[in-house]
Amino acid sequence: MADYNAPVKDMKLALNHIARLTELSSMPVFEDASDDMVSAILDEAARVARDVVGPTNWEGDQTGLKLDESGVVCPECFHDAYSQYAEGGWGSLQFDPEFGGQGMPYLLSVSVMEMWQSANMAWGLCPLLSQGAVECLSINASDELKGIYLPKLISGEWAGTMNLTEGGAGSDLSQVRCKAEQDGDHYRITGEKIFITWGDHSLTENIVHLVLARLPDAPPGVRGISLFLVPKYLVNADGSLGEYNNTKPLSIEHKLGIHASPTCVMGFENSVGYLVGELNRGLACMFTMMNNARLGVGLQGVAISERAYQQALNFANERIQSPAVGHKEPGPIMRHGDVRRMLLTMKALTEAGRALTYDACGSIDFSHHAEDPERREKEKARAALLTPVVKGWCTEFAQEVTSLGVQIHGGMGYVEETGAAQHFRDARILPIYEGTNGIQALDLVGRKTLMDKGEALASLLEEMRATVAAGGAFSALAAQLEAAVVAVEQARDVLLSGSAEDPQLPGAIAYNFMMLLGTVAGAWELLRQAESAAELQSQGEDDPYLAAKQVTTRFYFAQILPRYMGYLEMIKSGSATITEMSDAQYASAWQ
Ligand SMILES: Cc1cc2nc3c(=O)[nH]c(=O)nc-3n(C[C@H](O)[C@H](O)[C@H](O)COP(=O)(O)OP(=O)(O)OC[C@H]3O[C@@H](n4cnc5c(N)ncnc54)[C@H](O)[C@@H]3O)c2cc1C
Repeated sequence: MADYNAPVKDMKLALNHIARLTELSSMPVFEDASDDMVSAILDEAARVARDVVGPTNWEGDQTGLKLDESGVVCPECFHDAYSQYAEGGWGSLQFDPEFGGQGMPYLLSVSVMEMWQSANMAWGLCPLLSQGAVECLSINASDELKGIYLPKLISGEWAGTMNLTEGGAGSDLSQVRCKAEQDGDHYRITGEKIFITWGDHSLTENIVHLVLARLPDAPPGVRGISLFLVPKYLVNADGSLGEYNNTKPLSIEHKLGIHASPTCVMGFENSVGYLVGELNRGLACMFTMMNNARLGVGLQGVAISERAYQQALNFANERIQSPAVGHKEPGPIMRHGDVRRMLLTMKALTEAGRALTYDACGSIDFSHHAEDPERREKEKARAALLTPVVKGWCTEFAQEVTSLGVQIHGGMGYVEETGAAQHFRDARILPIYEGTNGIQALDLVGRKTLMDKGEALASLLEEMRATVAAGGAFSALAAQLEAAVVAVEQARDVLLSGSAEDPQLPGAIAYNFMMLLGTVAGAWELLRQAESAAELQSQGEDDPYLAAKQVTTRFYFAQILPRYMGYLEMIKSGSATITEMSDAQYASAWQ
């Protein structure tokens, strides 16, 4: 099983040359994020990911979880990895110094988070959800709640969860039934939630559940849902832990992948809950958590793809067979053209996805910290547009990449010992949770494109055209990008002009629209990186990584970007073939 080595050079190129970390670092608020500091943080995180977290991945998958009277029992090795994570202050990078954070850019924390997710995605879900809980509370909670809960969540002493889903309420949260009743200055929460990630465990001494519930007299639908903070243990006035608050893991799911991430059915019985934000505005509050969590899940797509690529590359170098074409001696299977095609597909998609994800996350930082309010709004709209693309496209290609990882191993990929199958199994959850990719695609065409009449999209396409217009070392690739931008414009026109007449159109073309935009945006990011790499070479930097980036980019443009033509054709064919089959016709062959 290959070790995980964080791709620090590629992370730095994406951070500095795409996501504008250097510009963020020049702002007074981020004065501590100097080049040297960023390098030190990335190098040390890479060491912890390789030596401490990475080795727990396989053991966690094989050991799995148990539920006994004490609650969820995690693999033993997770405890040490988590302690080192918390003691190293890794959960506090981007948060407010007022509550114990280090005040670094969110963008920097994203590349560090990528390392945890590559090293062990099942384990990494615990920090990922805790960070989401911090973001949600930082924006929506009262000062009193912030004072009690944020320092411990930020330090990693406590963990956070997100409790939305119920048996009858997944994509459709209007069906949430969990009950909240006022009891003096707090509420009592009763009900059952399903599929709650890290709903219970002993890595931390307390768990802070963020729970959607409704008051008895609340309006029906999503307008009657409120958000409550429900701790596993109540907190005494002096900050010590008090009574157990009846937040019980009733069972844990047996799953296809992420075997070591406890996915719990949670029971709340008269549990004390504190209102977060305003009554009946729970979904809006939860969205602050969900939006960044969606970027986080897109990042998981990149991370698991990176891990699968490293594993496959290692195998392709070690597996010796008869001489390949052009060789006289037996040699590694990576000399075969088809194996190289698979490896480069994995590498190119992963690097394009990384740059796109970091780019979107950089916009989040600018949306908070840019001086000019107009720019803040623009960056906010940019991040909002890119969020469903990052979540949807990166987690879709993670299926392809991890499957290719299995394929490169041949039969050894299908059996478990190599670990390639684990990445494939683990990746399968990504298009499902945090809003299925169907829901992401609907968000992209509906709220993010139809609602603003394509304005945010037009502005992103303008940025791509500016790259084309700037010329550079890769004029043939720039011309290809220009044609791809025209295709996105055509798709946008189909959407904007056809949706009023055909209400089925947005839903029918949404997935292809998301894949089209992701494929084209990925090409744009790689082209910009290739240009930066060429420029660094011309300044005298002599690193094979810079040449490899340019080859990877040419491969993407030749072998992956042309997919956009297929997506456009499918979008142009509209909704008819997708919607015309009647319910009865679906099963007509066997009924
Ligand atoms: C391992 C795991 C961990 C999870 N962790 C958490 C967690 O920590 N907290 C939490 O609250 N939840 C969690 N979930 C729940 C997860 O977010 C939901 O499963 C997901 O949102 C989908 O909801 P659902 O399962 O009810 O599927 P459904 O909503 O029933 O969807 C079924 C299918 O129908 C499609 N569909 C549904 N509605 C529409 C629509 N309007 N338009 C187009 N297509 C539609 C979906 O895309 C999907 O393909 C987790 C789930 C799993 C499996």
